[in-house]
Amino acid sequence: MDLIDRHGRVATDLRVSLTDRCNLRCQYCMPAEGLDWLPTDATLTDDELNRLIRIGVEMLGIRDVRFTGGEPLLRRSLPSIVATTKALPSRPRTAMTSNGLGLKHTARALAEAGLDRVNISLDTTDPATFEKITRRNRLHDVLDGLEAAHEAGLRPVKVNAVLLRGINDHEAPDLLRWCMEHGYELRFIEQMPLDAQHGWNREAMVTADETLDLLGRHFRLTGLDGRGSAPAEKFLVDDGPHTVGIIGSVTKPFCGDCNRVRLTADGQIMNCLFAREESDLRAPMRAGASDAEIADRWIAAMATKLPGHGIDDPTFLQSDRPMSAIGG
Ligand code: SAM
Repeated sequence: MDLIDRHGRVATDLRVSLTDRCNLRCQYCMPAEGLDWLPTDATLTDDELNRLIRIGVEMLGIRDVRFTGGEPLLRRSLPSIVATTKALPSRPRTAMTSNGLGLKHTARALAEAGLDRVNISLDTTDPATFEKITRRNRLHDVLDGLEAAHEAGLRPVKVNAVLLRGINDHEAPDLLRWCMEHGYELRFIEQMPLDAQHGWNREAMVTADETLDLLGRHFRLTGLDGRGSAPAEKFLVDDGPHTVGIIGSVTKPFCGDCNRVRLTADGQIMNCLFAREESDLRAPMRAGASDAEIADRWIAAMATKLPGHGIDDPTFLQSDRPMSAIGG
């Protein structure tokens, strides 16, 4: 059975949040004091998590599994969860979105466990700007993590950056130059209304077109075709070989091609990052539901996926769950 919605889209890409906790406090994501984290007994155990991933892959057509959070590296059992996922007969592609803190120590183990790729979030290479955005003085740890990922063969190492007006937008060309020098693939992501503080503001957001314009003053950018279900519009930089991606989640939504589904750390299925409803798989699982019953619930949860997220619409209502608790 496929995870198909009423608009004909099929979800094959599962984003699994391993924890809602994070060791950074990025200002566009959460407040300085952090959030009320999920209690331990609400969080899926490794066995529960592995079971849901197996049902998704073996029964529901999931081909890609991305581990995220919160910060996925905070889950100590991550290498074992990756290995269990990779050992499934169809050997799904595995990836992780991480802030890179501590990756220096785990990159090799993760590669050996079967992790294929990583996306590391990095908005600046300036220590002062890094501290301003993340409220932590940990830039050096992220840079070490990036290097370790590259050396461990978790390639292509992609870097995700969010531009904030007046804070790091002027650094965009330097960040691209730095990523190209280090062999990392940079993608800029428009800031989305996913922060716990509900402080997002459409006017303050640096749009994909603005980013393109900012970069275009320093580099020759040639658009590449064939985005498919990938969110980034890709551009060749100065005739290649390096590329840069720009993800216009707000101004150039790609909902019509979306192939994603999200599993939160407490076992809820969210059929969209901006969904206002979630479907609980944890309660039935803990009440003894069979694999087939859980799969049926999951299929039903996907059917109602809306055609679009509507962020750019004045009537848009932000979800109660912030990005860190959904799994970015
Ligand atoms: N902790 C991990 C990390 O830093 O990559 C994974 C979770 S984090 C929520 C995933 C991605 O979401 C990061 O690249 C982060 O920059 C991005 N993100 C968080 N809040 C965002 C927002 N309001 N708009 C756009 N991207 C956001």
